[in-house]
Amino acid sequence: MHELSIAQSLLALIEDEMTKHGKEKLITVKVRHGRLSSVVPEALSMAFEVLTADSRLAGAALVMEETPVLLRCRDCNREFTPEPPTAAFAPCPGCGQELGHTVVSGRELYIEYLELE
Ligand SMILES: [Zn+2]
Repeated sequence: MHELSIAQSLLALIEDEMTKHGKEKLITVKVRHGRLSSVVPEALSMAFEVLTADSRLAGAALVMEETPVLLRCRDCNREFTPEPPTAAFAPCPGCGQELGHTVVSGRELYIEYLELE
């Protein structure tokens, strides 16, 4: 379950931010995860809850938003969302090229914002 290690790194980042800003309480953390980062929101949510249960972060809300996959064709530069939307390799609707597309979005995993008190 890689969500556990993801939750651990998120918590480390959150703790860093709290120390940096002299805050005591985490109200909300918003995480954006790309469709290709293969994060299971329920699993991450559960890992977050387990890891924060006995800490000062207990009770904080974890909000997650998925970013769709967006590819850019290497031949014609057209940007498109592949079908199925989880596929990094898909034919370009403009020219049919299947390989070498750039992943514009869909792989990201980051904290969008923190609400601290
Ligand atoms: Zn193309």
